[in-house]
Amino acid sequence: MTVPLRAESSTVKVALGARSYDIVIGRDLIASLGARVAALRPGAKAAIVTDENVATYHLATAEAALAAAGIAATRVIVPAGEGSKGFRVFEQVCEAIIAARIERGDLVIALGGGVIGDLAGFAASVVRRGLDYVQVPTTLLAQVDSSVGGKTAINSAHGKNLIGTFHQPILVVADTAALDTLPERQFRAGYAEVVKYGLIGDAGFFAWLEANWREVFAGGKSSGSLAREHAIVVSCRAKAAIVARDERETGDRALLNFGHTFGHALEAACGFSDRLLHGEAVAAGMALALAFSAGRGLMPAAEAERAIRHLAEVGLPTRPRDIPGGLPSVDRLMELMAQDKKVKRGVLTFILTRGIGAAFVEGGVDEREVYAFLSEKLSER
Ligand code: NAD
Repeated sequence: MTVPLRAESSTVKVALGARSYDIVIGRDLIASLGARVAALRPGAKAAIVTDENVATYHLATAEAALAAAGIAATRVIVPAGEGSKGFRVFEQVCEAIIAARIERGDLVIALGGGVIGDLAGFAASVVRRGLDYVQVPTTLLAQVDSSVGGKTAINSAHGKNLIGTFHQPILVVADTAALDTLPERQFRAGYAEVVKYGLIGDAGFFAWLEANWREVFAGGKSSGSLAREHAIVVSCRAKAAIVARDERETGDRALLNFGHTFGHALEAACGFSDRLLHGEAVAAGMALALAFSAGRGLMPAAEAERAIRHLAEVGLPTRPRDIPGGLPSVDRLMELMAQDKKVKRGVLTFILTRGIGAAFVEGGVDEREVYAFLSEKLSER
């Protein structure tokens, strides 16, 4: 068993009245899961939903922690990957939770990345008309983004995340040591979402990331561990503040979609496959949104270049030519963008920016302007 580098953890509160909850962030926190759950829901049983990869590394620790606190737990293990976010696996998870006799007052525990958080969260929101659930995110993307804010979903044949609910967890336990087993490419993809918080609203944090990203990536070692924790805490604070202001995305929460309109089209063009991970698509999308903003005269070109340089420096894709394999025509990319939920009746809603840390929602972007911009960018391939 690893010895914690330090006993403390950080707590970020998500302030949503009766649905408020804590995000606890620190090393080796999965070992404290049982005590935390027992304190919140004394006497509850639990179903742990996880995937095959995460089960290999972290399920035993989670089960031991629950057992030590006297919590009876059932495991539900699904295949790893986006393919599990569909009706077939969703049905299996719901049936397994019911078979485990998890009732109102009991808990679902989502132990894994964004796929598991979205899938288990959605199941928790509908089984027995709603069960409480705890997020134990094990990817960087899940720790800084998907485990916070209560969006749950599975995919439809028509597109990603089209079937889902808003259902807030009662607790998020982000164990930074769990990231030590995460493949570096996955870590890097999650880091794009960390950079996003700096770009949308916190220039100081962006500058801190420019100076400290190597420590954040190094993680396990002592100073790296603190830098990683700091990056996750600041990201969660940013997301918690936005979610508290706009839980159901009627306004401000859309800022979290910075880079996602372009990114979604690129991700869809790559078939939501390993060719381009979600965070990689967001990085490329943010680079395009920065260049588009600079092209509109909203921000100095040099500032956009500085932001794009940081994304490239850590190894994230920032140009269409960084994406392996061919990309479809501009017409097709425009079509893919139009399928995105950020598009209404042909008018594009974009998150643009007036500088690092100054993103805003622009409701009426002319399609022809986007078309011309993308044509130019794709010709650079
Ligand atoms: P993921 O859950 O598929 O995890 C990525 C890979 O890492 C998987 O193979 C997984 O098995 C593996 N893995 C996870 N933790 C590990 C660990 N600690 N050690 C070793 N391997 C580990 O993907 P993701 O990037 O975490 O999440 C992407 C999903 O999140 C997408 O479906 C996306 O739609 C969703 N998402 C949801 C929200 C939201 O607000 N609900 C926000 C952003 C993204």
